[in-house]
Amino acid sequence: MDQAQQILINTFGYNEFRYHQADIINTIINGNDAFVLMPTGGGKSLCYQIPALVRDGVGIIVSPLIALMQDQVNALRQLGLRAAFLNSTQSYQEAEYVKNALSNNQLDFLYVAPERLLMPATFSLLSGACISLIAIDEAHCVSQWGHDFRPEYQQLSVLPERFPNIPRIALTATADSRTRAEIIQQLALFRAQTYVSSFDRPNIRYIISQATNARSRLWNFIQQNHPQDAGIVYCLSRKKVEDVAAYLNAKGRTALAYHAKMPAAIRQQNQERFLREEGIIIVATVAFGMGIDKPNVRFVAHLSLPKNIEAYYQETGRAGRDGEAANAWMSYGLQDLITLSKMLEEGEGSPEYKRIIKNKLDAMLGLCESTLCRRQMILKYFDETMNEPCGNCDNCLNPPETWDASIDAQKALSAVYRTGQQFGVVYVIDVLVGKVDARIRRHHHDQLAVWGMGDNLKQVEWRSFFRQLIAQGYLRIDSERFGALVLTEKARPVLRGEEKIRARKYSYKDNNNRIKRNQETNLRAVDQILYDALKGILHSPVNTLWMKR
Ligand code: ADP
Ligand code: ZN
Repeated sequence: MDQAQQILINTFGYNEFRYHQADIINTIINGNDAFVLMPTGGGKSLCYQIPALVRDGVGIIVSPLIALMQDQVNALRQLGLRAAFLNSTQSYQEAEYVKNALSNNQLDFLYVAPERLLMPATFSLLSGACISLIAIDEAHCVSQWGHDFRPEYQQLSVLPERFPNIPRIALTATADSRTRAEIIQQLALFRAQTYVSSFDRPNIRYIISQATNARSRLWNFIQQNHPQDAGIVYCLSRKKVEDVAAYLNAKGRTALAYHAKMPAAIRQQNQERFLREEGIIIVATVAFGMGIDKPNVRFVAHLSLPKNIEAYYQETGRAGRDGEAANAWMSYGLQDLITLSKMLEEGEGSPEYKRIIKNKLDAMLGLCESTLCRRQMILKYFDETMNEPCGNCDNCLNPPETWDASIDAQKALSAVYRTGQQFGVVYVIDVLVGKVDARIRRHHHDQLAVWGMGDNLKQVEWRSFFRQLIAQGYLRIDSERFGALVLTEKARPVLRGEEKIRARKYSYKDNNNRIKRNQETNLRAVDQILYDALKGILHSPVNTLWMKR
């Protein structure tokens, strides 16, 4: 272990081990298997890199992404270590060169894609080599129910047979207890020591809000909190990526697009600029980010709903890897939910698979619509208990107001019922607030008793409330019928007046944008006071009332 400590200090330049690094490294050095759950940015790589240097032979690292391999290999080479990779991007000669180095015991690390490792030629090559350990990075890719499923990963179960006496270490940053069990099963890690570090990322502030004026609110958020910082903005579609990047550029920031359909060379170039230059915003689909190790990403913004909490956690986890304060900001609307449900419905997979994916989406919506501490909810999702609310999320900082919404729930649910459970939320709200248009007339819905009964709430307020009714399972969206709202069994007692409902009030003031960092407003103290006073007026109740009209 002394040797490991020496390598940590002399080779990697760090003073001490973090989390369970020391124990994990010890386990592997002693020839045992390990299963490591550590949050993104926790320092998983050292857990196999150091034992690979201490033990004899080459460390084999199975990694799902080619870009990620290249980065890691480059980083290791810069430290003067002997690292190489084998993947499909290489020329025959390059691959031969690596194979020769391997046969001559000239490598400390060999990164391989799973499909490459599983090729018989690679197996025979490796069986002749002295191997120090096998690391399986991003091990959650083995899970069928996860968000990064890669079928080749499941075949890695042959490793213990093929390489019986070589310690294996599987690592991941995202795994609920079901996925954990699946990883252990699929990778045959029955004798592995399991190390779970807390998933809490206390320096990340979670902020989630509704989708009205999302783009301009995003801009306010960036301008007020991150006028010069690097950040990532995630969007669901390629088109939105391009629109938002153009918008931010027009505002004077350097924003670069990143999505799967752009030429690989430009994508690569944008990624490299983001990594090297300071203060760049990358606007991306979820294709961006796995393995991105930029420590000072100060914010991650979502302009749409992530498809599950794992993805949300992983994407937001790219902020603040240096441990300094960072923001995870999200703005989402019901349309995202409809789009995602539709994608799920139309996608492949058994009904059982779709049900699990749907449940994960529901949990994500539940997180967004909750009035509880976001961090407590996220950690609970990963089976971790946090006893007190965190004090560093929007719900903790500005506790949402709630109201007794039992009557409004009856109005909403009966409007859905009376219009025949075949309309989307926009139409149902139009009926509730008493709108008359050709469509409503044609269906004679202006004759219904519920028509106009909801004029006590504004349209945005109804929208927010409908999201909550969906999140709490009183309504569901029928994605096969264009997002029509349908009552669930749970709606019955509410309609009968047997169940009370409390709901979170729609907030007109954008609390989320008021995270002050005075040093960044660049205002002199007197100006700051004036500025704050003005803001106070803007957000006074009188003014809020005025804004409602
Ligand atoms: P992960 O793979 O868990 O997301 P990495 O292995 O990429 O995380 O490590 C994240 C960052 O933390 C890297 O910049 C790494 O060099 C740094 N790091 C890892 N271990 C330590 C340590 N013991 N002390 C200081 N920094 C560390
Ligand atoms: Zn909180």
